[in-house]
Amino acid sequence: SEKNHQTDVTIIGAGPTGLFAVFQCGMLGMRTHVVDALEATGGQCTALYPEKPIYDIPGFPSVAAAELIEQLEQQAAPFDPVYHLDQQVTALERTADLGWKVTTSKGHSITSKAVILAAGAGAFGPNRPPLANLESYEGKSVFYLVKRREDFRDKSVVIAGGGDSAVDWAMSLPQVAKKVYVVHRRDKFRAAPESVARMRALADSGEIEMIVPYQLHGLTGENGQLDAVIVKDLEGNERTLETDVLLPFYGLATDLGPIADWGFTLERGHILVDPTTCETRQQGIFAIGDIATYKNKLKLILCGFSEAAMAAHAIHSLVFPEQELHFQYSTSKGVPGES
Ligand code: FAD
Repeated sequence: SEKNHQTDVTIIGAGPTGLFAVFQCGMLGMRTHVVDALEATGGQCTALYPEKPIYDIPGFPSVAAAELIEQLEQQAAPFDPVYHLDQQVTALERTADLGWKVTTSKGHSITSKAVILAAGAGAFGPNRPPLANLESYEGKSVFYLVKRREDFRDKSVVIAGGGDSAVDWAMSLPQVAKKVYVVHRRDKFRAAPESVARMRALADSGEIEMIVPYQLHGLTGENGQLDAVIVKDLEGNERTLETDVLLPFYGLATDLGPIADWGFTLERGHILVDPTTCETRQQGIFAIGDIATYKNKLKLILCGFSEAAMAAHAIHSLVFPEQELHFQYSTSKGVPGES
């Protein structure tokens, strides 16, 4: 079926090292599928510091993290990787023919001869507020990120949090929404001061309503559709905010999750690998980038790139046992679509 896939190498994690592994595998004739819990590629570069310049990527005196990711994706594109984003890898099992089967939280399964774990510090996911029945509203009227502002046209929206995302959307959503509340547990916001000042000006002119200092306390609604969010202050005073949508912006957390149970040798949350191949204790599973460790490991993007090259060369004999691998430079080989 369209949810059961087969490929040469499955890559878990679409951060910088996972993306470069697509390229390295591609250069050796191996097809790849890539899974990431985030909705976008780029791992930490996208989720934590897209606008910061990086100064230690060889050949780039300075490159914004988001720009590096764009370039890596472009470099990988000729090899037609298949991306499965917005889903976590939940299971990893041996197959009868000595390959591996990866299963995702959206019900996709991918079988391949080898797996590259480029999983960083684990799967990225939102910090979720501790509210009863939260799951039943998620994806229907509770969202952790805004894909299209239009989705909230003429709706009443509660934004919760005090960081950049909360403040940015508090400035932007009043242009389409019917009503915007901003709930934060204290009157101090962690976002850029100019943005906070602009948000306060919108509150003064009545375009948004600040519910401060209050915390989320409960949800009411039916069949996943919210009708109100209940908030409480430190004295226990409650308020009921009638709303269609709740946007909790409490940042991202990482979750090593099932990786911890897959039988690797872990050293403080990192997977021990053979530094000459990046193979783990499990035959056919390789780990690269921040998740991998060995003596004197440096957690740098440039080391992850080199590990991707080593893993791909080691994997070649698993995918093509009959073929001898002749080492070749990219300058003599070229890439698809270039002459
Ligand atoms: P990550 O970028 O962490 O990506 C891993 C991906 O795997 C994530 O997207 C995650 O969602 C996904 N994943 C994990 N588990 C699962 C699962 N079970 N299912 C689905 N998906 C999963 N490095 C430098 O070299 N130079 C710098 O100047 C630099 N500056 C930095 C500044 C900051 C603020 C930070 C936070 C880091 C910086 N780093 C820098 C470090 C660099 O970002 C990391 O070394 C790099 O991102 C590691 O890449 P990676 O591909 O191994 O993992």
